[in-house]
Parts: sequence; C-alpha cells; structure tokens
Amino acid sequence: MYKPLLTLTGGLVAALALSAAQAKPLSQEDLSVAEVLRDRALASSDAYSIVESLTVEIGPRRAGTEGDQRAVAWAQNKMKALGFDRVYTEQIDVPRWHRGHAHAQVVAPFPQPLVVTSLGYGAPTPEGGLTADIVKFEDVDALMNAPARKVKGKIAFINKRMERARTGEGYGPAVKGRSLGMRAAAEKGAVAMLLRSVGTDNDRMPHTGMMSIDGVENPIPALALSAPDANQLEAMLKRGKPVQVKLDVDSERLADGPSFNVIGEITGREKPEEAVVIGAHLDSWDEGTGAIDDGAGVGIVMETARMISELPQRPRRTLRVVLFGAEEIGLVGAKQYVEAHQNDMDNIVAVSESDFGAGKIWRFDTRIPENKFDVADQIMQLLAPLGIERGNNKSHGGSDSYPFVAQGVPAFGLYQDGTDYFDYHHTANDTLDKVDPENLKQNVAAWIVVSFLAAEMEDDFGRVPTEH
Ligand SMILES: [Zn+2]
Repeated sequence: MYKPLLTLTGGLVAALALSAAQAKPLSQEDLSVAEVLRDRALASSDAYSIVESLTVEIGPRRAGTEGDQRAVAWAQNKMKALGFDRVYTEQIDVPRWHRGHAHAQVVAPFPQPLVVTSLGYGAPTPEGGLTADIVKFEDVDALMNAPARKVKGKIAFINKRMERARTGEGYGPAVKGRSLGMRAAAEKGAVAMLLRSVGTDNDRMPHTGMMSIDGVENPIPALALSAPDANQLEAMLKRGKPVQVKLDVDSERLADGPSFNVIGEITGREKPEEAVVIGAHLDSWDEGTGAIDDGAGVGIVMETARMISELPQRPRRTLRVVLFGAEEIGLVGAKQYVEAHQNDMDNIVAVSESDFGAGKIWRFDTRIPENKFDVADQIMQLLAPLGIERGNNKSHGGSDSYPFVAQGVPAFGLYQDGTDYFDYHHTANDTLDKVDPENLKQNVAAWIVVSFLAAEMEDDFGRVPTEH
C-alpha cells in the first residue's frame, strides 16, 4: 500500500518538493538509444518465432495441466537460449480442474444438437445427464432480479450479446454473465446455466472462460453456447413453447497443484535491485493453442528483453520479464508474486503486461504521478511515428499488473487494436494463423522504447497513490 511519510525533516521536505516540481527529463542520449532500438525492432525483431515455438511445441497449457508443466520448462529453456542473464521460477498453487466432455441437445420441440463448451470449474451433470426446460434472461442482472420460482429446476440461459470495439470495451458488460451467471443461477435453484458465448464472432465456436466459484456452495453445470447456437435457442423460444434441453457433462474439480511464474532478467548495471517488470501470461485456455492469448504477449516481451540485451551495456536497472502462471483462472500467479514480494514492491519502478492479442498498438496509456507527464510526452515523441496516440493516465497496465498497481507501482499500457480479439478469445480458434508477424514487430518497437527508457532513465516515476 502507498503510505505517505508522516515525519520528514525540513531539508527532506524541501528536496521532495523540488523533485515533485521538477521531474528530471529524459536525456537526449537515452532518447537516441531508444530511437535506434525502436527502428531496429521495427525492421528485424522476431517475436513471431517465439510465439510459433510456444504454440507448435507446447500448444494448449491450461494452468495445472501437463501442458502447463511443459510450457514452464519451455519458457526457461527459451529464455536461456535467448541469452537472459538470469532465469528462475517461483512456485504458485493453482486450483485444478478436469474438463471432460460436454454435450448439449434440444430434446423438444425441435430435437437437434447444440455446440457448447464447459466454462472453467463448472460442475458435472448427474450420471446419464440432465434434462430441463430453458428459461431465458437478457443478461445476468435480469437473472439476479428474477424470482426463484421462475428459475428453480430449469436451465437458466443468459443471452447477452457482446459489442465489438477496438478497445474491447464490450467485454466488461458481457463477461459479467460468465463471472456471476452460474452463481446466480445456482442460488435460485437452477439445475444448469447456459451462456451465450462472450465473443464477437458468428462462428460455431463456443468461448470458454473462468467463472467466479469462491464460496459457491452448490456449483451447477455451466456451458457456453456458440453465437449461432444461442441464436437457434432464442428462435425456438420465440415460438412460445417450452424448449427442453439435455446436458451431459463430466468435468471435475481436482485438488490444488503446483504451477510456476517463470522469470528472466537482464540485470541492471547500476541498480540491479530495481526492476522494470514486463509481463505476459504463460498459461492459456485448453481448446486453442493460446496464440493470441497470450502467446503473442510472451513473444513480445521476451523479444523486447532480448533486443535490449544486445546493447553494448546493460540498462541502469534490471529488466524483468515475468511470464505469469494461471492468469486465466484469476490472476493467480500475479497475486502470489505480489504477496511473495511484498517488501520489494518499492523496487519495481514500473509494470506492464502484454495481454490483448496480436493487433497493432494504437494508444499509450500510463499510470504515473502528474509531475512525470513531461516524461511521458518525451516517450510519446518516439511512439507517435509508430501510429500510437497518447491515451489516459488510468492504465492498470494489463491484467496481471492489477495486483502491482494496487501497491502503488507505476504502470504503462501499450493498448493493442482489439477489434478482432474477441472473435477468437478462449476458443479452439485461437491459433497461430491469427498472428501477423508484422504487427508483432510494431509491438516490440513500442515495448522496447518504453521498457528501455524506464530501465535506463536517471530519475524514476516515483509511486502512484492507490485509489483506496
Ligand atoms: Zn490473456
């Protein structure tokens, strides 16, 4: 937590006041090096090969699975091969789950199969499956406000559509149904929950994802329908007769098990204990190969660090690449990292994660004290030629950065174009062909500017007061 110092000597107060008024600008020399790195990255960075290696040689790597273990070994080997100064892992505990099979079919009035996938940590149906009538809700709020008698014994169907946007801002309102739908349905006595996939495509591809399961006493089966299947169910319901669906699911919650954050460092030459943390998450959902979520991010931050390590000298501070474990199931690796390094948070000068696909970066957001805005303006001069505009100062630095930001760590956000991201997100269709190598070059060019300057700048960003 950010704690203001209550007792300061007069001299120190004066010094702090001075530094607050006059943030030290970035030096011309540092800016020149950043510019060279940017142009080199744009011409020849190769994040794509890293994503290719991860998706082809490992593929699906849901936290706590055998694929996850192989990914952890892959990441260490790759970091060593790329020439990182120090490579190590930190163990985390992750809840585990067996997906099993999930089948759904309309039994009446128009018998036919539906394309579904289990949502993360959903419960199985009884042996032989269950059959019940559908009750539809426009969104999870409507379900929460419904009387229990309307829901009891039925399959609650949440039919909220997600809006497409470059910022991905349609995700928040839609994902609420996935997070809270099963809990709300179970509390009202539903026997199962069906969710219109949280996605923007019209493919017959259901989108999986995590649900909020903490404290849910009687979890029920919870499945996502592909968009066309949700349309189909909607059209049947419009005909006014009860629609009966049979579900057969054999997923299973398993005991907690180990996974790892994998960490690779380019050691700082002057202040090695201080670090810029650039992250991505190593785990993925299990139906695709995790190319855009988050193989792309893994490639971008690893290649950024590799190229910085090619400079004649190390940057002033350490550049720490953290490949977080178990992001998909609730920022598990990031939360445990911050917990384990509680006393080291003041040494993290900035944090950011690349976890919004493989589109071009179009906006530079920050979370820095106001007296450092001039520094962000200097950085912007190097980012603007990449087609990047200045955004706001409300960045949380990407999903796994949240626990750091909550401790007052400054953050930056290199916002990718997410127009298509939710067409593939958490589906079997999240595969390497969705990644354009040229876009990744632009990404690395932007990341290298900000990462290098944050690690090299003489001054630092200080701390950002936390909101609560
Ligand atoms: Zn992700």
